[in-house]
Amino acid sequence: MDEEFLDRVMGEVEGVGKVDEFTGQLWRRWRNLRNGNVPRPMQLGLFRSDYLVHAPGGGEPASLKQVEFNTISSSFGALSECSASLHRYLYKSTQYYAVSPHLKEVNFPVNNTTAGLAEGLAEAHKAYGVPNARILFVVQEGERNVFDQRWLEYELLEKHGIHVVRQTLHQLGESATIDPLTRILQIMPPSGLLSDGSTSVEISTVYFRAGYTPTDYPTPAYYDTRYLLESSRAIQCPSIQLQLAGGKKVQQVLTSPGVLEHFLSDAARWGADAFTSAELQELRSSWMEMWGLDEDVPGAAGAAGECSGVCKARERSAKLVLKPQREGGGNNVYKEAIPTFLDSLPVKEREAWIAMELIAAPQGLGNYLVRAGSGTEGAVKTEVISELGIFGWALFGGPDKQVKEKEVGWLVRTKGKDSNEGGVAAGFSVLDSVFLVDD
Ligand code: ADP
Ligand code: MG
Repeated sequence: MDEEFLDRVMGEVEGVGKVDEFTGQLWRRWRNLRNGNVPRPMQLGLFRSDYLVHAPGGGEPASLKQVEFNTISSSFGALSECSASLHRYLYKSTQYYAVSPHLKEVNFPVNNTTAGLAEGLAEAHKAYGVPNARILFVVQEGERNVFDQRWLEYELLEKHGIHVVRQTLHQLGESATIDPLTRILQIMPPSGLLSDGSTSVEISTVYFRAGYTPTDYPTPAYYDTRYLLESSRAIQCPSIQLQLAGGKKVQQVLTSPGVLEHFLSDAARWGADAFTSAELQELRSSWMEMWGLDEDVPGAAGAAGECSGVCKARERSAKLVLKPQREGGGNNVYKEAIPTFLDSLPVKEREAWIAMELIAAPQGLGNYLVRAGSGTEGAVKTEVISELGIFGWALFGGPDKQVKEKEVGWLVRTKGKDSNEGGVAAGFSVLDSVFLVDD
């Protein structure tokens, strides 16, 4: 949340916002919020950190490497819990025909992600302090992830007695108002009336399951709606600032020498223990090499002198992925597509892209990928790669600067080994779950 750092990396004067319209639009709204001296309420993050197993061979032991860190619309927590339950149910009903000695109930770990994520939202609601306010889910037009989101809504109502309203940014452009004195955010329900007869509801927490991609903002007015929501006293999940902090460029800059150390060796600022150099090293070892395409970087192994980020990306393209400042899948450029892509990339747009070394997932693992509605014939037997996501939430900021945080569960997505992308909703992978194997 370091403002000077985020301005430098993501801002429109020095950073990615200069060349990337979407990042620039968001950053400008955040700057206007700061210039307007609006008191900043607490913020909530529902996070998911994604990992692949890296097994390059050649004597290097296999380890987990981070793919990316998500700070907005981290999805599939609830559905991952369902798939874990499905696998446990199949164990109970069939024991999987005892095909493996590892098939024991204790090896199917429980996954309570839904309760955990809902707890984060409920903590924010409680911190806001108005019990009959509601939590607003900002969703996409024709939302397909509704079947993941509804579980959170049911959990909030059943366990915490908190009501949810769902609206798109388009609807909110009409329905959201802020009281200029109290800065309370009020929403009119689309039907005009709530079940208790009132015509508007106060919002405690704004939970974005939209707003992470430029297509969610077809005109500048949509960014202004985002600004309006954030200029209220409602807790944002995430704030624009926290969304920017999750940018892929930020993840790359953190790997530069000294940057992580700068933030974590001074952990006392957040009331945490200082990180030892061994801990910093351990954290760093979970990252692949990354660099900016606009940077001067040390040359490829064995080559003398400096080579630009683009030149190095060309040399190593077979083992690289290029990523722009986007979320939601389908935006990255992989391996053999890289050289042609670099030929067509205007020089000034290089700043918006990072290069990342590919994680070498273990080979030779087989499984069945099952598609809904296609029956037994629809189960494809193939070589697969599994991606692990770890969910957590953090409630922080506000006047007393306290941080409350918790790790809450996991997601496994499995895809065919030849698919570069990883998204389930995007159509690349299927839901899976963790199965522990005794040593
Ligand atoms: P998005 O924001 O689109 O989800 P990601 O960084 O998660 O972007 O990339 C999408 C998918 O591409 C990931 O889920 C993963 O399967 C694959 N991927 C991304 N980075 C790497 C990498 N360094 N090595 C191997 N696969 C990767
Ligand atoms: Mg991803």
